[in-house]
Amino acid sequence: IPGQLSPAPRLLLGPGPSDAHPRVLTAMTTPLLGHLDPQFLEIMNETQTMLRAVYQTKNPLTFPVSATGTAGMETCLVNLIEPGDKAVICTMGYFGNRMVDIAGRCSAQVTVKEAPWGQTFDLQVLRETLQTVRPKVLGIVHAETSTGALQDISELGKLCHEFGALLVTDCVTSLGCTPVKLDEWEVDAAFSCSQKGLSCPPGMSPVSFSPRAVDALKARKTKVQSWYLDLTSIMSYWGGDRAYHHTAPITMVYALREGLRLVLEEGLEARFARHVRNHVALKAGLEALGLTYTAAAHCQLPQLNAVRIPEGADDAACRKRLLTEFGIEIGGGLGDFKGKAWRIGLMGQNSRPSCVFQVLAALEVVLLGAGVKVTGGAGVAAAEKAYAA
Ligand code: PLP
Repeated sequence: IPGQLSPAPRLLLGPGPSDAHPRVLTAMTTPLLGHLDPQFLEIMNETQTMLRAVYQTKNPLTFPVSATGTAGMETCLVNLIEPGDKAVICTMGYFGNRMVDIAGRCSAQVTVKEAPWGQTFDLQVLRETLQTVRPKVLGIVHAETSTGALQDISELGKLCHEFGALLVTDCVTSLGCTPVKLDEWEVDAAFSCSQKGLSCPPGMSPVSFSPRAVDALKARKTKVQSWYLDLTSIMSYWGGDRAYHHTAPITMVYALREGLRLVLEEGLEARFARHVRNHVALKAGLEALGLTYTAAAHCQLPQLNAVRIPEGADDAACRKRLLTEFGIEIGGGLGDFKGKAWRIGLMGQNSRPSCVFQVLAALEVVLLGAGVKVTGGAGVAAAEKAYAA
């Protein structure tokens, strides 16, 4: 029998999972309830009400899918796409490509619109695509975790509706960190995760569907190809008479409820401002160490700082030293950026000055050790200055 679990402590400053808040971990030790217990049904109601507040929506069909962010992505696409439907998927990084793959598996006629990694899409370009293709669905990533770029989607819903398309957005890395305004932005389907901006463990994917999306679902001519993710049945558990669909992961619902309480106690605006403040300090520090961002200056995510690995530094060796000597996890690059970028997350409760100073100080030591020319103390000093300002 293996020994009792006792992993070395880590500070999770990668692209996710981020550390769960201690209050979330405590909530997870609450005794189990049955998934149809009236007390649990009330907990579900509370969770949904808070999810709507965080997503800034009145959408009745708002609930957490019992699985990770990818299941949320799949839920949106399998329910809204029927075989032969046209879908435009916009990719500017790794996760856009995952949407392309899933839309293809739904037997959609997929048009892929690509922007260079680290860039975002211009609305005018998407207008032309919508005009030419006339898709049923347009899918786009709001916060592209592989490049650290934030796509402005504030006007995109309106544009999609002009051409009769539904807007599906990946809010996995944005929810709880940067503004997400589903109703104001006229988003039709959105999915997210529990393990980043909401400071919970991985395992839940909050989704939300506009009445327009629900109408499209009701108008389907074919059965949704996935049994588990078929909203027409899940709706009867999360959206209607609370009839059994699957055994809800009770403990994860407790966690999500507490994570959402934390977001709302802090207040959305204060939370977003905190993410920006810590990002500004981290960015000042990273740039003082000579590191450059992979995302263009106008669209950098506060919660995910992706920087190019400096010449001379060995990707795996540096990250290993950060992990084993300093207990800090940062992320490596994905796809086009594999071996070329590091991704430093300041998400949810980990967006705080102590995380900024720890990672800058440790990175400085690691870079110096790798023979990269950096001025000792420059990163931390620049962050201090940013906070003071
Ligand atoms: N979309 C984006 C933008 C992500 O960053 C991730 C994961 O990091 C996913 C989708 C997939 O989420 P998960 O790994 O929780 O399934």
